[in-house]
Amino acid sequence: MKNNYFIPFYSKYDLTFHSGKGSWLYDDNGNPYLDFISGIAVNTLGHCHPALVETIQKQSNTLINISNYFWNDTVLNLAKRLRDLSNLDQVFFCNSGTEANEAVIKIARKYGTQIAPNKNKILYMKNSFHGRTMGSLSITGQEKYQKNFRPLLENVQEVIFNDLASVREQMNDSVAAIILEPIQGESGVIPATESFIKGIQQLCNQYHALLIFDEVQCGMGRSGKLFAHQYFDVKPDLLSIAKGLGGGFPIGAVIASKRAVNCIEAGDHGSTFGGNPLACACGLTILEQLINKDLLSDVPAKSTYFITKLKRLQETYPMIEEVRGKGLLIGMQMKHSSKEIIRKCMEQKLLLAGSSNETIRILPPLTVSEEEIDLAIDRIETVLTKF
Ligand SMILES: *Cc1c(COP(=O)(O)O)cnc(C)c1O
Repeated sequence: MKNNYFIPFYSKYDLTFHSGKGSWLYDDNGNPYLDFISGIAVNTLGHCHPALVETIQKQSNTLINISNYFWNDTVLNLAKRLRDLSNLDQVFFCNSGTEANEAVIKIARKYGTQIAPNKNKILYMKNSFHGRTMGSLSITGQEKYQKNFRPLLENVQEVIFNDLASVREQMNDSVAAIILEPIQGESGVIPATESFIKGIQQLCNQYHALLIFDEVQCGMGRSGKLFAHQYFDVKPDLLSIAKGLGGGFPIGAVIASKRAVNCIEAGDHGSTFGGNPLACACGLTILEQLINKDLLSDVPAKSTYFITKLKRLQETYPMIEEVRGKGLLIGMQMKHSSKEIIRKCMEQKLLLAGSSNETIRILPPLTVSEEEIDLAIDRIETVLTKF
């Protein structure tokens, strides 16, 4: 069995894909699957979009990697665009979401301890997901991920998402930062409420703590705005992004306010591959498609179209508990059997992702068409009629 070749970190479906185009993946025998997982919110433009393919071809003919000893226009241009679009000041590039979060943890620790030696605590949310490395795992509020890997980072404290009182209870001068996802992705597509997010901002201001948004999943247009926190009148000190930023090419970034990173000096952190021209060229292409080619401005209409149809299904099939989400980060919470439904959809050649609380995560590429949404709805209905 091919399973024997791998350290068993993953339980995979017995499907092998050979190629992809747009919203479609093709298996070994050429069967088309409608891919509404998109590499887990990664393939912003679907599979093998001509603009991204061309960028990779051109950039790999020009310059792939030079190290962070030197400058390059590609990394400079991407930093400038991200800074302008986020209304923040300075950027650090890495290769993944968890790496972005490792960087924000270090920035928060240095920021705090420069103010007072014991100002090093980080508050994080129950049911959050920030990654699998030891630092980001320490602020991932899920026992199932943490349980076999203790001891974890010290001076981190879990609080309850969307419960300002629980945050207020833990808030004091020793807190350096609070981290949250504006929309919790892995734990069932749960948006932060406006009053919660604004209350957190206010507490951070009051205690001179940094406000950190992890937008690795909900950022880069997935929510219908470039960054999900832009639905609210709030501004983070640190913003982690990755997944959709490269459209499938690995890249992550931290975007920071000047006040958060005033304390940073050369040597405090780094990444061998971070900021390489090839990854940054992909990031620029994704932004170009989202903003200059108006892909982002179509997301809210696609979202409304999709969510309306899912809610209509809910009226017929009460085993759908709730449909929620923003943009094309959609959760369909079932009363039960979400795993079986995902499997049955797979048999109908529709790929959907799981998450906590019996919630099915629906993550089409942002380039998805109405016809493809209709097809997905038909396939979901076919499965639901059999339950
Ligand atoms: C996926 C994810 C991460 C981890 O990203 P990796 O690239 O897998 O390291 C971190 N935070 C959030 C919110 C995520 O969805």
